[in-house]
Amino acid sequence: MNNQQHIHCIVEDCHYYSTGNKCSAKEILVATDQFGQTQPDRVDCEMATELTPQKAGTCMKTCCKTYVPKGSPKLNDDSVTKL
Ligand code: SF4
Repeated sequence: MNNQQHIHCIVEDCHYYSTGNKCSAKEILVATDQFGQTQPDRVDCEMATELTPQKAGTCMKTCCKTYVPKGSPKLNDDSVTKL
């Protein structure tokens, strides 16, 4: 698997945000807002292949499920690591 990912992100209070507006997470899960609002933090990349795809309709209804605030006690809940 290619270790070079290029996810650009401007959400600077996320634990995975890094200089140059880049995401430093090894992988992320993008989901619908509804999914993000109803699923716990542990539902993230690790189980992505088992999840049921959903329609969003507009970019306004999608979110990064992997987002976690810097310094949050929940940093390891999603089983995602930094590059
Ligand atoms: S995990 Fe999501 S919100 Fe956080 S830096 Fe990466 S893309 Fe942005």
